[in-house]
Amino acid sequence: MTDTAAGSEQFAEAFSEIERLHALIDMIPDAMVIIDKRGTIKAFSKGAEHMFGYSEKQVLGENVSVLMPSPDREAHDGYISHYLRTGEKRMIGTRRITTARRRNGNTFPIELSVGEMPVSGKRHFSGFIRDLTDSKQKEQTLQALQADLAHVSRISSMGGMANSIAHELNQPLTGITNYSAAAIDLLEDASASHIDDVRHALTECRKEALRAGDIIRKLREFIAHGDTTLEIADLRRLVNSATALALVNGDGRDVDFASQFDPRCENVLAVPVQIQQVLVNLIRNALEAMHETASKRIRVSSSYEPRGMVRVTVSDSGPGLDPHIAERLFHPFISTKASGMGLGLSICHTIINAHGGRIEAGPSELGGTDFSFTLKSAELGGDND
Ligand code: ADP
Repeated sequence: MTDTAAGSEQFAEAFSEIERLHALIDMIPDAMVIIDKRGTIKAFSKGAEHMFGYSEKQVLGENVSVLMPSPDREAHDGYISHYLRTGEKRMIGTRRITTARRRNGNTFPIELSVGEMPVSGKRHFSGFIRDLTDSKQKEQTLQALQADLAHVSRISSMGGMANSIAHELNQPLTGITNYSAAAIDLLEDASASHIDDVRHALTECRKEALRAGDIIRKLREFIAHGDTTLEIADLRRLVNSATALALVNGDGRDVDFASQFDPRCENVLAVPVQIQQVLVNLIRNALEAMHETASKRIRVSSSYEPRGMVRVTVSDSGPGLDPHIAERLFHPFISTKASGMGLGLSICHTIINAHGGRIEAGPSELGGTDFSFTLKSAELGGDND
């Protein structure tokens, strides 16, 4: 942040040019932040003040990482110097779905576009930020995701499939409910003449249950054969976009969210859209589990495993697993929620198995549950054994 005397002059010049820019950027309803090549905040629009809860005065001269959750918070300086050193554009000129951090510590989903611009001949970067928490922006969110996720058509076919599965499953489930209710009524008067009717009702129940099982099998086949092209995927990116997706409906407002990645295994071999689906399911489950919990914390972390694998863990500070279902957690239709389908974890299980990994759950250091799964590492360098 310190400048030489000549630098200060240029700085003053740059500053007044930024001030002129201000009138313009304050017109933008979304947030705009301008930083210099050291990451120091030089301008903070009215929209940014509103979005982040800081006044411009409070953040001018601060490093832009104050607006980011961990681990980007710690890593951001490195991102800029990497770009300045190599000229490799990872963020500049792209639109990306990721997360940001408000003054009160809340993590929220954003769409971020970064541009580069000279101000008084010096390199500056502009960040244009759109808050995706607001439900009325959901449609825009989906459009933004389309830009961000090359595989979006498959995501929406997943969504569409989930809808039609829910619809199809409703029929056998309604059948099972009706036939079993009839059997219970008939058993009120368990005379010999009613036994045949009870048998009939139970036979129908069984048929309906088998039909539901068939639907699940089809779902598994769809997942297994739908898209199996493994790619080298950046784990941090997968987690960031899945987090943003899981938070779009505003459920994570008062949740302390952070992630931590093992630098030895940043890339995995995966069908990105499927792993995203797994992460979204696990993060949404964690959010739902913590509904009544006073201190809400979610951590996503990765760690190096022997034999070239990576472990990804989603931890929460919720109430932990219900012991009644812990054994059958990954079976379909196992749910403790009034409106739960009990399909999320069974889909996660199928996806992770198809990737050659394993998924498991257990108690978490945060007080709630750890869900963790393994994937093949895509690090080259041969030190993964
Ligand atoms: P659903 O969310 O529709 O119930 P899932 O298969 O995703 O279906 O989850 C099955 C059950 O596993 C949930 O109903 C809940 O009881 C339990 N569960 C999942 N994630 C968590 C978690 N993070 N903490 C506690 N229980 C969980």
